[in-house]
This record gives sequence, C-alpha cells and structure tokens, in this order.
Amino acid sequence: MAADSETIRQLKLAETFFKHSVSCLVILDREYNFVRVNQAYADACRRDIAEFEGRNHFELFPSDTQLIFDEVVRTKRPFITFTRAFEFIDQPERGTTYWDWTLVPVLDARDEIEYLVFSLVEVTERKRAEEALRIASLVYQHSSDAMMVTDATNKILAINEAFTQLTGYELSEVQGKNPNVLKSGRQSAEFYQAMWRALDTSGHWNGELWDKDKNGAAIALRLVINTVYDDSGNIAQRVALLSDITERKKQDDVIWKQANIDSLTGLPNRHMFISQLRKQLSIAKESGKSLALLLIDLDQFKEINDALGHDKGDILLVEVASRIAECVDESATIARLGGDEFTVILPDCQDEIQITAVAETIIARLVQVFQLGVERAYISASIGIAQFPDDGLDVENLLRHADQAMYAAKNAGRNRYCLFTDTLQEAAQSRMSLSNDLRDALKAGEFLVYYQPIVELASGKILKAEALIRWQHPVRGMVSPVDFIPLAEGSGLIVEIGEWVFKQAAEQVRRLRSMKLPDFKISVNVSPVQFRHDRDFTETWLEHLAASGLPANSIVIEITEGLLLDATEGVAEKLLRFRDAGAHVALDDFGTGYSSLAYLKKFDIDYIKIDRVFVRNIDVDANDLALCEAIIMMAHKLGLAVIAEGVESTAQRDLLLAAGCDFAQGYLYSPPVPAQQFEKLMF
Ligand code: C2E
Ligand code: CA
Ligand code: CA
Repeated sequence: MAADSETIRQLKLAETFFKHSVSCLVILDREYNFVRVNQAYADACRRDIAEFEGRNHFELFPSDTQLIFDEVVRTKRPFITFTRAFEFIDQPERGTTYWDWTLVPVLDARDEIEYLVFSLVEVTERKRAEEALRIASLVYQHSSDAMMVTDATNKILAINEAFTQLTGYELSEVQGKNPNVLKSGRQSAEFYQAMWRALDTSGHWNGELWDKDKNGAAIALRLVINTVYDDSGNIAQRVALLSDITERKKQDDVIWKQANIDSLTGLPNRHMFISQLRKQLSIAKESGKSLALLLIDLDQFKEINDALGHDKGDILLVEVASRIAECVDESATIARLGGDEFTVILPDCQDEIQITAVAETIIARLVQVFQLGVERAYISASIGIAQFPDDGLDVENLLRHADQAMYAAKNAGRNRYCLFTDTLQEAAQSRMSLSNDLRDALKAGEFLVYYQPIVELASGKILKAEALIRWQHPVRGMVSPVDFIPLAEGSGLIVEIGEWVFKQAAEQVRRLRSMKLPDFKISVNVSPVQFRHDRDFTETWLEHLAASGLPANSIVIEITEGLLLDATEGVAEKLLRFRDAGAHVALDDFGTGYSSLAYLKKFDIDYIKIDRVFVRNIDVDANDLALCEAIIMMAHKLGLAVIAEGVESTAQRDLLLAAGCDFAQGYLYSPPVPAQQFEKLMF
C-alpha cells in the first residue's frame, strides 16, 4: 500500500531525526512516565537510555517544572517554551544548569492528551554570560566612578548614576549629545587635538582636565577613555571613566599658592619672583632686550608696625602693594620679597629716564598718607635699581646690585631711588674690607674716644660731654663712626667696642670729677645691638662704675627711639635696671624717628636730644623753629631736659635759649676733641 509505505517512510524519517537530533527529545505519557528519550537527552543527563525505561520523569528529576506540565495538561495549550534552572541532585558538581524547554502536548482522536513531547536545549553557557553581563552592568551602574559610553560618532549612549551625581546630567539630557556639553573652556584647542590624536591612533587616552557640570561649576577630572572595536575592527563604542579630582586640584592649588604667593598681598613671593626674574632674563637674553629691576624697601615700616600693631602694619603692606601696582603697566612683575621689601621687574626697558620715572612715581605715591582704620600713617621708600645687561647678567648679580643701590638710597637720606653704579660696587667692596679690618682694630689700639662738650645754655657752663668714638685706620686715616658703626653692629663687634668706649668714658669722668667737677657727666652712645645681645652689659657697667668709686649718674646712655619701639622684655628690663641704679638716659636724634610721647614716659627718659637737622635751620626756617619750640615745651611738660645738637652759630644758640632749651652741643662750642684737648677746654 502506497499510503502505508509513505507512512512507514515518514516514521523512519521521524525515527532517524529523533535518534540523531542534537536536541534532547523526550516523550512522556500523560502520567509523565518516560515513553522514549533520545541519545542526546541521555547524554545530557549522563545516563544510559535504558535507565529511563518505566521511570517517571518527575520522580527521577523532581522539579517545579511539573507545575507547567500540569498547566499544559489542564489547558491543552498547543505548546509552551520556557527557560528553567535545574540542579542534578546526583551530580552536584554540575552546579546550576539552565535549559530552554519546548513542551508540546500530543492529543488523541478524542482530543485527550495522549503524550507530552518536549525538547531541551542546555543554555547554561549563555545564561552564565548573561549573568556576567548583568553583574557587569550592576558594577557599571553602581560604580562610584562616573562612566560614559559614546558611539563611533561620539554621541553619548549611556551614563551611569555616578556620572549623574558628578555632572548633574540625567541620561535623558545627554543621550545622543556630544560629550562637549561638559567642556569648560579651560582647555586649549591643542589639548583636545592631542587627545583625539591619541584616541585615533591607540584607542586610548588618559589625563586630567577641567570640565564643567550642569550648573556651569568647574570640575577637575581624571579621564580614562578606551575604545571598543567590533569584529571588523571598526569603532563600536568608547568608554570613558571620569574621576573627580577637584578637591585634590584645589589642594594642589593651595600648596602651589603657599609656595609661590605671598598670602598677605597676593603678590608673587620671593620664590616665584626669582623664577620669574630668571625666566624674564632668558627672554631678554634671547631677544637682545634689556630689563630693569627695582628693589623697594619701606623706610619707617618697623616703627609703624611696632607702634600701631601688626594688624595695621599688614593693612599698610597690602595698600603699598596696590599703590605700586598703580604705578606700573601690565608687563611689569611685582613681588613681595618679605617684610617691607618689594620688587618690580620692568621687562624690555632700557631707557633710564623711563625707569627712573617709574621709581619716582612709586616714591611719590608711597609718601601719601595711609589711612589705617582710624589711624593715619606716613612712610617713604628707598629704591635701588639695577639693569640687565649693564649691571648684571644673572639673578644673583642683579639682585645684589639692586640691593647695594637700595642701601645707597637709604644712606643718602631715604625716600629716594639710586641707580646701581660702579662707584657703588667699589663702595660695597670698600665696606667689605673695612669690615675685615674692624676685627683687629680694637686689639691693635686703633680706636680713640673724642669728647664733645655739652653746655648749659643759661650759664654757658660745660656740665657734660658726649663720648664719640674715632678709628685711626693705619691706611685710610681717620674713619668716621658713621661708616664703621653700622659694620660693627652688623658683625656684633659693637658689643666689645661699646664696652671699651664705656670704660674709656668712665675713666675720663672719674678724672674730671676728681678735678673739681664733682657733678660732671659723660654720655655714651649705646647701640640697640648691645641691648639685644644675650650678655647683659648693664650689670657689668654698673659694677664697673661702683668699683671705680663713681655714682651711676656720672654716665648717661644715649639711645635711639627705634630701641624703645622694639622694646622686647629683655631690652626694657636692661633699660629700667639702669634707670633704677640712678643712671640717666638720653633719647638721641629726636624728631627723626617716630617721636612717640608715650614711650618717653613709659621708659622714664631724662633728656631728649633734638636732632641737628632741626637745629640747622632754626634761624632761617620758621617751621623748624616752631618745631624745636614745640619739642622743648612738650619735653618740659613731661619733666624732661632738652639738649640741642649741632649748634653752630650764636643765632641758633640765642633762639634755643629764648625757646627755653636746657643744653646745647655743637661746633659753636667745640667739635669732638681728644681727652687731653677736652680737658684744656675745661680748665
Ligand atoms: P650722634 O650720637 O648724633 O653724635 C653726634 C654727631 O654730630 C657726632 O658725629 C658729632 O661729631 C656731630 N656733631 C657735633 N656737633 C656738630 C655740629 O655743630 N655740626 C655738625 N654738622 N655735626 C656735629 P660723629 O662723631 O661722626 O658720630 C656720628 C654718629 O656715630 C653718632 O651720632 C653716633 O650715632 C655714632 N657713634 C659715635 N660714637 C659711638 C659709640 O661709641 N658707640 C655707638 N654705638 N655709636 C657711636
Ligand atoms: Ca649721640
Ligand atoms: Ca644725635
């Protein structure tokens, strides 16, 4: 029969398919007993085909899958496919396996379930891969590092939660957009070009950059970009990893500022100034241009700081910085080297008239009154100028020469500028050698003490004298104390020298007192360096006087105002010990410093000596006369006696006498003279 043979042929085909199918195929009866299984299924279960005969599927493999089978049997759904996890109880080493099921009920002529046929495909590998992907995506979503995925045309495909937190952008706001929505504008075009070059050639870039968030706030990022290629080597995606380094950048910034910027004025500090100067010098060298360096030192800053307090001093320094800035154009570099020292670099500047004009402007601007809260203060500045290439080729030489010029400006009376010259260089060298010679001068007996009479104006009698040191230099001849005292102070030699002068003066006053001048007094100049020195000279001096049979009041010590303003504990103690023992104290050069009345009282000063710059013109300048009169009146009110210095004419003497001045000292009576000659004046 043709139909039969056809059926047989089909059955054979089905049989072959069933046997050799790589899919697992199973036929169950409606009680879920195995009817047939194929080799693939037996293999998947790692059993022999014979083992399934007469067994029930769910007894052999208990599983909640049975619920689905029950459902199909009940509803007679034509087929159902599903994926299920399964664990082989007798093969625990296989772990969880995954299977795709296709379940088909076979109905008989009465529409009842006759068989259940199902096929199984193991999908464990695929499932694991999916799981790995899911975990990866979990990591991606929950990573604390912001991530962004872009496509080959640089459009944003995906971002994670951290990205949203970092930038403020939700996916919907940036999807499909170019990542340059984050561009801050702080990076140059070259920066991005280099980045793209790297991405195009290696597929990778990492670096730091400034972006901006949704609100426009700058964020510093460490950015790592990697490229994902498809099978044919085309760009599929780029994955960017963004870490927020804004805080670290800010800290770096703070650290950089601390190292380079003066926190008070916001100007570059010494460190940055040196590197700036070095840079500008190399530019000048290359371009054959010149450059000027101005070193600006405030003249009375210390006094203001001491008298008004550091807060006011700070306000003044800030104001000085901004005034200097007003005097120069943008090309200039202004820096604060420390304390009250500022500097200006004028690049490409060789015209001396132009340079000195800048210095003059600065000086003029700085002498204007400073309003420090309720207080007003006046200062001035001394400026030293050195030029490249004439005065030096490198940082060290230019700085040293500007410094020498600045000191020359100070010595010439402050409130002025001074250009560096060879003469200055010679003077500096001369000071060096003088300073060396000074070391041996005391031992070599090259010092002398001269005495200058101090006359009581009312009686014309010499009641006191000032001891003034002289240095008889073996080669240079007589060297003025104006030239060597600062050197002795700088090296500390002044302590020994001062001690020696004091002993000479003590011996001289002893002689005079024994020669019918029992009340005679000699004053000695005491340098602030002696006061600040660790060794307390007051005790030794007082002992020395006592041992010589002299009362403490036979010696007057002359100090300058700077010492009082700076009076640290030790200094004040030494001064008061002198006072308590009965020695007198005179305040020298009065009127040239801060002239603080409060200090006169506080330290119980006996005399003030009006500086000779005020005395010099009293007969021609009404202002100076008025000033001297005021000083005298004020001093008397405070119970102090006044000595006028530098009295050279009878006109000056008469005016001072009329103003009530107590004593006078000056060439009118006598210049400082050796002891012997001085004694001749007396007797
Ligand atoms: P000083 O204490 O102000 O001394 C007064 C100076 O004025 C002396 O200069 C004196 O020679 C000078 N002089 C006196 N009368 C006249 C006058 O009528 N006209 C003019 N133009 N000048 C007059 P000298 O002796 O050159 O001393 C200069 C400075 O050196 C002193 O100024 C003092 O500060 C310092 N010095 C002198 N001897 C010593 C010392 O033994 N120890 C210390 N630490 N400093 C001293
Ligand atoms: Ca003096
Ligand atoms: Ca003086």
